[in-house]
Amino acid sequence: MRYVTFSLSAGSSPRLGKIRGDRVHEVGGFQSLLEFIEAGPPAWHDMARSDDRAPGHPLSAVRVHAPIPRPRKNVFCLGLNYVSHMRESSAARGREAKIPEVPIFFSKTPTSVTGAYDDVPWDRNATEQVDYEAELGVIIGIGGKNIPRARALEHVFGYTIINDVSARDIQIRHMQWHKGKSLDGFCPMGPYVVTADEFGDPQTKRIALRLNGETRQNANTKDMIFAVDVTIEWLSRGMTIEPGDIIATGTPEGVGLGRTPPEYMKDGDLFETEIEGIGTMRNRLVAEPR
Ligand code: MG
Repeated sequence: MRYVTFSLSAGSSPRLGKIRGDRVHEVGGFQSLLEFIEAGPPAWHDMARSDDRAPGHPLSAVRVHAPIPRPRKNVFCLGLNYVSHMRESSAARGREAKIPEVPIFFSKTPTSVTGAYDDVPWDRNATEQVDYEAELGVIIGIGGKNIPRARALEHVFGYTIINDVSARDIQIRHMQWHKGKSLDGFCPMGPYVVTADEFGDPQTKRIALRLNGETRQNANTKDMIFAVDVTIEWLSRGMTIEPGDIIATGTPEGVGLGRTPPEYMKDGDLFETEIEGIGTMRNRLVAEPR
């Protein structure tokens, strides 16, 4: 199943839909994807079995929002989770490349979340170095604590695409990633959530980013240092994770920071983030008036 959070016109409130072919069918009985996820596996199975008699809406005619437009807590993120990206980041910073022994966690604020086709605002008073990071997003379906790796994927509701948009100068200046990755609109997400059963093995998917049509990132999720199951095991160690929690699993090589010299995005740049089995996000960086 593929779920989408959509609205029919500007100003109308987002609702939950499921996708069949190129049409969206509204899901009744739930106010949001978050509410549906919290209803648990019995509701998910009922929904997968139900047929759609209503004609629905053409996907091209609806406005697509982030699957969870306002998460209840920060989006959990992994830093340096692909060897290739870890090497390019270390080189750009003049540091020795060292593969992390445990996942490096940080987070993005809920206010950074935006839709898969929305413009990303660029506040030039805050940053001059905006960079992209294509990432596989994991949506937790069943909460838990101290979840063993062997059971971890049973806790996943589905997968989506995230771009961990990053202000590199803020990351350096504040000596911590949180703020530089949490500016408004710096977490495009979507366009859909593909349920875990349909998505299959999360470690076999092509992941790519195109900047103004030019491929900049082109990798496979098999190259993650910490796979999704290992990540959930570490994240839930002594810390409860809950339905609707979101994990961004890190980016492969090819970010602007890793180029020689570094190349950051410009006003009007279109960045497309694609993951095999989910789809493509298209976001434009748009400078705000100073
Ligand atoms: Mg990242």
